[in-house]
Amino acid sequence: MTFLLRIFLVATALVAAGADPARALEISGTFVQGGLATGKVEPGTALTLDGNPVAVAPDGSFIIGFGRKAKGKMVLRAVPPEGPSETRELQIKARKYKIQRIDGLPTRKVSPTSPADLARIKSDRRQIVEVRKRTTLKTFFDTGFMWPVTGRISGVFGSQRILNGKPRSPHNGVDVAAPRGTPVKTMGDGVVALVNQDMFFTGKTVMIDHGLGLTSVYIHMDKITVNEGDFVTKGMQIGTVGATGRATGPHLHWGVSWFNIHLDPALLVGPQKPKE
Ligand SMILES: [Zn+2]
Repeated sequence: MTFLLRIFLVATALVAAGADPARALEISGTFVQGGLATGKVEPGTALTLDGNPVAVAPDGSFIIGFGRKAKGKMVLRAVPPEGPSETRELQIKARKYKIQRIDGLPTRKVSPTSPADLARIKSDRRQIVEVRKRTTLKTFFDTGFMWPVTGRISGVFGSQRILNGKPRSPHNGVDVAAPRGTPVKTMGDGVVALVNQDMFFTGKTVMIDHGLGLTSVYIHMDKITVNEGDFVTKGMQIGTVGATGRATGPHLHWGVSWFNIHLDPALLVGPQKPKE
């Protein structure tokens, strides 16, 4: 939606509500599985999506994400501190996902059995889950997003994965193949929430907190050039492309989540530009 159109719709909503600003629930985004929407309500509004509370920043900003299997209709409800509440029905477009087969991975990385590996996997997962639980009431995402690295897309969001002939979890991000050592940049402003030099599946891993539950993850890196707690701005280098963890060659796996819901990073940035 263009800025002017959005102003017009908000203005129209205000007129319809007798110029009562408490009625304004502004939302725009990509209403499709894997998509993200941002919006604004009156500060102090209690917001729910299908009955589940949604974090609202002190200025009234909020974001919501739609998972890989999000249902066709979702209900957003805003209860402002004063004045009438507002309910909005969101139509979420369904997608079809590919099947991707990858062979030649080390057996240990597809079907781990040793107690040491299993303990590591559990600990890695716990660290990632902890970051995805955080509700930082910041709106770092306001400055927009960009591709962290450009190159051939070797894996898309949502694909059903068959690794060495065995069905595994769907692919939760976008893979971009690029030469080892290519700079990896943060997709947007945020705080570095996790740096791990050696995760079992994901190798050298960085997670960035963009506020209100939106996080991005950058994995299989060769080098990491940031520390936990660093504030980074869109386009700042955070590491280099590598093939650490479960990877058949150098590429960046880039993931984006809204809390524990995986989103499609490609929907946040649009097509790659030649000189990004
Ligand atoms: Zn991947």
